[in-house]
Amino acid sequence: MKIAAEVKDAKTIGIGGHIRPDGDCVGACMALYLYLKKIYPEKQVELFLEPPSEVFRCIKDIDQICTDVTGDTNSKGDFDVFIALDTSKERLGAAEALFDRAGKTINIDHHVSNTGSGMVNYIDTKASSTSELIFDVIEEEEMDVEIAKAIYIGIVHDTGVFRYSNTSPKTMAIGAKLLSFGFDHSELIEKTFYEKTYVQNLLLGRALLESILIMDGKCIVSAIGKRTLDFYQASSKDLEGVVSQLNQTEGTECTIFMYQTGVQEYKVSLRSKGKVDVAQVAQYFDGGGHVRAAGCTMNGTFYDVVNNLTLHIEKQLKLAE
Ligand code: 5GP
Ligand code: MN
Repeated sequence: MKIAAEVKDAKTIGIGGHIRPDGDCVGACMALYLYLKKIYPEKQVELFLEPPSEVFRCIKDIDQICTDVTGDTNSKGDFDVFIALDTSKERLGAAEALFDRAGKTINIDHHVSNTGSGMVNYIDTKASSTSELIFDVIEEEEMDVEIAKAIYIGIVHDTGVFRYSNTSPKTMAIGAKLLSFGFDHSELIEKTFYEKTYVQNLLLGRALLESILIMDGKCIVSAIGKRTLDFYQASSKDLEGVVSQLNQTEGTECTIFMYQTGVQEYKVSLRSKGKVDVAQVAQYFDGGGHVRAAGCTMNGTFYDVVNNLTLHIEKQLKLAE
């Protein structure tokens, strides 16, 4: 699929990504936004996303994102084309209404849980990231250093800096092409992926310190309560990386990390080393993701959430034995 051809007749184009956008979501959305603005300066292109983390300030035109989708979305009018990235339409948040009313809808994603919610779908679950797919759908000759940076950031974030099993020879080949545009990749990785604020490190420390091993050490669990988040004036953005650190614990097969979002509500992040398909586990609770990284929102106490999840995890571990 080439996106230029898919949108060539449109006068207005909307782009949206999932709620609580991560690096891949931000990178993919920004790369596509920059590309469409570049090749079609006469078209109206708008990008809708919840406010991205400050670390992505280095991406050109990130301040052009329309973050206020929660208001009267009707005032935006109906788009000729709306493109959903890194999610199916259900997790577009307020922008879902814009997607629903658009003349034509396109969905580009790499999640196994995505069944294709667009009129045109480009879903490749083998791809490391949606950003990698954006590289596929844009014309290489129109690439420039700013677009390359956005795609690079997206790939770096979803592969844990070319480390997770979703990194393929193709991912590396694309990475090489992107580097040839000449930007400080080392600084980009350091500033957007590894560098943490003091508060982020404190929260990571607490999550590690308070973690527990269950299921004979096969699963590590940790949670951050609302009172702690409030105390540090922290948000979900400050917990990025916590779950992957927990998942590095020797001997474990999977990780459950959650933070409290309401009285009896938790946002859950799941990670696996391969034996457990956490996307399948998350899907039981209306979530989704990938085999080794998935998430969902669950109701109940901390113990309810753990009990409900371990039921499914244990079943899968038994089958894998
Ligand atoms: P994380 O744990 O880093 O928030 O998410 C891991 C993966 O699962 C990401 O690919 C993310 O998009 C997906 N994911 C996380 N939470 C949800 C959810 O509530 N619903 C769906 N469909 N996917 C999720
Ligand atoms: Mn992604």
